[in-house]
Amino acid sequence: MSPRGWALLTLVGLVAALVVTVAVLIPWQRPPAPRADQLAALDELPRDQVSRGREFRAALRPGGWVALGIGLLVALALGLTPLGSRLVELVGRPFGGHWAAQAVLGGLTVVFVADLVTLPFAAWRHTVLTRYGLATNSWGGWTVDLLKSYVVSAVIGAVALGGFYTVIRLAPRWWWAFGAAGAAGLVMLLSFVFPVLVEPVFNRFTPMGPSPLRTELMELAARDGVPVRDVLVADASRRTRAVNAYVSGLGPTRRIVVYDTLLREATPEEVTAVVAHELGHAKDRDVVVGTLTGALGAAAAVVALYLLGFVAPLLRMAGVDSIDQPRAFPLLLALVTVAGLVSTPAQALISRRIEARADAHALALTRDPGAFVAMQRRLAGINLADPDPPRLEYLYSASHPSTVERIAAARAYARKTSR
Ligand SMILES: [Zn+2]
Repeated sequence: MSPRGWALLTLVGLVAALVVTVAVLIPWQRPPAPRADQLAALDELPRDQVSRGREFRAALRPGGWVALGIGLLVALALGLTPLGSRLVELVGRPFGGHWAAQAVLGGLTVVFVADLVTLPFAAWRHTVLTRYGLATNSWGGWTVDLLKSYVVSAVIGAVALGGFYTVIRLAPRWWWAFGAAGAAGLVMLLSFVFPVLVEPVFNRFTPMGPSPLRTELMELAARDGVPVRDVLVADASRRTRAVNAYVSGLGPTRRIVVYDTLLREATPEEVTAVVAHELGHAKDRDVVVGTLTGALGAAAAVVALYLLGFVAPLLRMAGVDSIDQPRAFPLLLALVTVAGLVSTPAQALISRRIEARADAHALALTRDPGAFVAMQRRLAGINLADPDPPRLEYLYSASHPSTVERIAAARAYARKTSR
């Protein structure tokens, strides 16, 4: 069988593995959150909080969609016309057109250009966040964060691009197989290394001092069978008013991280409810499942890109003779961008199901639906959420159940357990 035949077979196997993983490991059965309870929850929320959340989301909406559209158009313009391949060539010229320069510098330039066109929208978003009091950082702080994220992406991108095109040179016929394995490996590496290496670039973490809350959280984790080493406080307040908490690390390095904003704004019972939700993610190994599906998806994408390289019209449009040259990178980026936009609703649905399970875990662990509801109301108020967002937008990209869904689930739980 030819490499192409093997690739087709591998793609079928990877997609089948992905489908089975998602079908088996995602909690499709979600706890009940009756619409009647949702509407009652909406009714009980303060009027001005609901209208302010809706106003804020409406203010963000046009720029968000336009940025998405322009990002797509630019990716397509670079990938499906010879523009991108010429840009890669141009960047490689001072280095005598060396493949490594084209691959790494050319590739990074293409990504950067595609990113740069949406930068005005990111800045505009920051003005909206500042106007509504959600962002607390100055333009200086915002710029520093932006530059830091560029540096982090450039380092990861350079390693990925350099590695990818080296493999293509070493194994011209079978690169897709090594590339698929490498992409899967990179996803796993980033998922486990990223929190440890990259979190400290953006936030400072200090251990939470001895307090009844700290004792309560450590005990909660132990009772849940998810022992943690420490409770850390992140200094998120220097850029945002938004509140959050998460559990990161595995086994002996596992720790609870709480935003300082959460400690400042919420009662200890509500902080406990948030942490109980996060412990649910740790207990159900949601990061592991997410990493596994991400790794399978990345591997399948590499093989699919290799096979798309046999579609002559695509190559003609991009002005390249084969998909495995650095000049064809803009074409790869365009295809990946389209795939990302198309798969967003599926990823959002999977995320919402996982979040609903973590909520159910929090309710069962704390047995305190009252604190859970209070926490949801507070979260929605501080983060200026639309408690019951427009249906289409929710289906396309909501990563969490809506506020009214989460409160409805708590009400249903309270009814069930009080019986
Ligand atoms: Zn969660």
